[in-house]
Amino acid sequence: MPTGKTTAHFPSVRTFERPRNVDGSLARLADYFGANVFDLRAMAKKLSSHDLETISKVMKLGGKIDATLAERIASAAREWAIEKGATHYCHWFQPQTGTTAEKHDAFLWLDKNGYPIERFTGKELLQSEPDASSFPSGGMRSTFEARGYTSWDPSSPMFIMETENGRTLYIPSVFISYHGDALDFKTPLLRSNDSLNKEAVKTLHLLGEKNVTSVITTVGAEQEFFVVSREQAMARADLRLSGRTVFGKRPAKGQELEDHYFGHIPTRVHAFINELEVELYKVGVPIKTRHNEVAPGQFEVAPIFEGSNIAADHNQLLMKVLRTVGARHNFSVLLHEKPFAGVNGSGKHVNWSMSDSTGRNLLDPGNTPHQNLVFLTFLCGVMQGIYDNADALRASVASSGNDHRLGANEAPPAIISCFLGDTLDKILNAIEAGKGDNVSAERALLDLGVNHLQHVALDNTDRNRTSPFAFTGNKFEFRAVGSSAPISFPTAILNAAVTAGLTKVNAKLTARAKGGVVSPEAVFEILREVVRDTRNIRFEGNGYSQEWRDEAARRGLGNLADTPSALGVWTDTKKTQFLVETGTLTPTDLESRAAIQWERYIKQRLIEINVAVEMAQTGILPCTLGYLSELVALGDSAARLHISTPAQKLAGELGQLAVRFETSLSALRAGYDRVTSDDALDHHALPKTAKAIAEQLLPKLEELRTTADQIEALLPAGKWPFPTYQDMLFPAD
Ligand code: ADP
Ligand code: MG
Repeated sequence: MPTGKTTAHFPSVRTFERPRNVDGSLARLADYFGANVFDLRAMAKKLSSHDLETISKVMKLGGKIDATLAERIASAAREWAIEKGATHYCHWFQPQTGTTAEKHDAFLWLDKNGYPIERFTGKELLQSEPDASSFPSGGMRSTFEARGYTSWDPSSPMFIMETENGRTLYIPSVFISYHGDALDFKTPLLRSNDSLNKEAVKTLHLLGEKNVTSVITTVGAEQEFFVVSREQAMARADLRLSGRTVFGKRPAKGQELEDHYFGHIPTRVHAFINELEVELYKVGVPIKTRHNEVAPGQFEVAPIFEGSNIAADHNQLLMKVLRTVGARHNFSVLLHEKPFAGVNGSGKHVNWSMSDSTGRNLLDPGNTPHQNLVFLTFLCGVMQGIYDNADALRASVASSGNDHRLGANEAPPAIISCFLGDTLDKILNAIEAGKGDNVSAERALLDLGVNHLQHVALDNTDRNRTSPFAFTGNKFEFRAVGSSAPISFPTAILNAAVTAGLTKVNAKLTARAKGGVVSPEAVFEILREVVRDTRNIRFEGNGYSQEWRDEAARRGLGNLADTPSALGVWTDTKKTQFLVETGTLTPTDLESRAAIQWERYIKQRLIEINVAVEMAQTGILPCTLGYLSELVALGDSAARLHISTPAQKLAGELGQLAVRFETSLSALRAGYDRVTSDDALDHHALPKTAKAIAEQLLPKLEELRTTADQIEALLPAGKWPFPTYQDMLFPAD
């Protein structure tokens, strides 16, 4: 058992070999950025310009790669990868485990004489067949017994990952069943991008912008995480197995001095992030920003935004590389939403917008009334989508970890609302109030002050940190996403919601169109309608306040405070219809996905409880009783010698706590046995089991923790059997 003594055993700063030019000088960032990506630049050296054009089209607009072209791409990729030292390739995909999966194969084949040849065929590029039944199924084995396929997603380039002793070609892939059901997080995202593209182009055409041929969604995901010493994290079963601490007394100092946020990056962490960035640059992840976050030990890195599919792949890569490079520096990188009680948790702000084929950001207010009419139309489409589908958005970010943030008086609340900022809020209010009537739309817009819209982007002071979905000048920031979540799923649901919103707006526009185009006056009237209809989703105030909860209830907005309440959305056909209509998820996808999320919640909570029981029984209780017996022995002998000591008083106090602790522990165990009996993990029982865990077991776990933390405060320094919050959160620089 670790001694838990104040453990300042921090190794010295790790140095690493930064990329160098052949002459030995340090390479420039731009020279190694993307060096390990088989992008169009790299392909151009290996493929004909005709092939390149086809691939470039598929990358931008989607579509299929035929077998003969796949053959040529595979052979080019093999040559390129082998030149770069790769020996293996793998399909890299996102099953619903929260992380990525990969199965490696060598570029090795034996000829008829048994001699080695290097081989990688078009078929191997296009398809691989992992055992689908070994991935989460949510108790729906029958659906999953069907074979599953991974298949290259040509819109995301292949890349080489360098690991300690080897190099592997990674092939970003989708994972689908034999019947075409989505078994992963990427497929729904790709589908939602397709449907948003169609609907948004239609909107633009109705607004007279016939030159636009496509619209993509763009995403920049800010990633928060904690960094702790690896030795310390490994000495805590809770961090190791469940990702969060289930015990731990708050240190004398927390985040109250606000001295960590944007502060000096600790030397060893800085060294780690330097190496992290180099690794990420090589595989083309455009990390731009790094800084300390609010809680001690908490940091953030953020990339330059990209198309949402690539952004989602890059966020997965970031999470993977954070952990592997962290380990080289003797750090454990904690991606859990709430690794430590009493200080801020971690989120992943998904910045989101739409961009058209002319390169214009559709959520960027423009300089002319017409540009602003386009902007306001898309803004209204987004609001309509969020208003109609808020509960599904809430469910898309539901997880046991995120329950410690959403609805727990931290970061964004569980109630989904839109924050627009003062300028925009005033303009929409004026539009709704019917100001600017009886004049041309252009005049009306000017009267309403839309010429001020250009300043919205600069309106940075006007930040509302308590909103789960905030407009920040030229994009929305979906803040409710958890730090460990793959962003592809919430982004897919967001895309689908906006597609549904635009579909509604388009129906109104189409009804007023003449020759396929709607007059600015008619657009203006439609916007007024949408602003009026969606008014209830807008909230500019403090999202943490009780008043907002009361107000939201009056407005009829959902307040799904925890995962078990949120997941019910997936089986409510009224609330998921838009996902089926936009082609994002089929009814079968929805059913299996719901089951997987229920199962995941249950298993994660049970792991936490198991770990707590074990730490309590084998660590905390023996320690407590050990100190108690010392106190009792001291009290006894002191009494015999007529010496007064506080030993008896202390022993009394500790004894009481020990009794309470043991009582809570027994209650938690009994509850655990009750909740997990018989058929608890059967498909049909999942919601009931999850609710029982949330309502019966979690309060008991909290009780146990409260007592443990009180005991920790009484034990002699160094006697606590685990690394303390103080040692983990406030290491030496
Ligand atoms: P903040 O003040 O919230 O840190 P930033 O301007 O740094 O805001 O942006 C945060 C993230 O938003 C970055 O990843 C950035 O690339 C991304 N972002 C900026 N514009 C867009 C956009 N049009 N679409 C999607 N993401 C964007
Ligand atoms: Mg931000």
